Amino acid sequence: MERPFIFINSAMSADGKISTKERKQVKISGNIDFNRMDQLRAGSDAIMVGIGTVLADDPSLTVKSPELQDKRIKAGLDENPVRIIVDSNARTPIDADIFTKGKGKRIIIVSESASLKKIAELKEKADIIVAGKKKVHLPEAMQKLREQGIKQLMVEGGATLNWGMISSGLVDEIYTFVGNLIIGGKNSPTFVDGVGFPEKELLKLELMDAEKIEDGILLKWKVLQK
Ligand code: NAP
Repeated sequence: MERPFIFINSAMSADGKISTKERKQVKISGNIDFNRMDQLRAGSDAIMVGIGTVLADDPSLTVKSPELQDKRIKAGLDENPVRIIVDSNARTPIDADIFTKGKGKRIIIVSESASLKKIAELKEKADIIVAGKKKVHLPEAMQKLREQGIKQLMVEGGATLNWGMISSGLVDEIYTFVGNLIIGGKNSPTFVDGVGFPEKELLKLELMDAEKIEDGILLKWKVLQK
């Protein structure tokens, strides 16, 4: 199966949480890390999040730096990469920031169980990919994205989509910024939630780089596929 090169970029607290117990976005990194993330966005063909992140944070997923936008435009690209939501039941709000902010293509990946009425509404704002019966079948979806010319895909969470992608063997590299705070709480989302791997099937990583940035550390991992 041909799929894009896929990496996850995420910021987590020193205790591995990616947001608070109220599932509210929290500032974990500073300006240097923010600019690094913006560069990763600008260098990718597409950015993808789960519907949980859209409902919790309503991110626009746009490239923020005007210079990086210009660079993309001069290269004949849209100012923003394709913005993608994994959303089995087409629950994405029609007024989500992803639709109202910035130019560029949007894709909603739904399953066959999504309502046709809601799909028709979303079609006004985005291209629709159907993959899977009740829940988005991520391997099929990634193959379809590659067929549409997406060669490099940046995943920006959240916890459940990260599990879905990692447990399906669809992630090549992981970049985590670990910030200088503790969030705590057994219900606060961690970098990877979902059901978790059994002891005999833990996924191994190779450390590619570790860099101190401001008051935290950026870890770059290569995923060693099973
Ligand atoms: P999420 O991972 O963004 O989205 C999960 C949803 O995606 C699932 O509930 C499911 O909803 C859909 N989905 C469809 N097919 C899937 C599949 N095969 N595998 C996995 N998911 C699939 O939501 P979340 O876990 O609630 O995470 C959101 C939290 O993460 C928020 O609190 C947000 O602030 C935080 N966050 C933090 C960062 C960071 O870097 N610090 C980044 C992003 C998000 P359906 O069944 O309806 O399709």
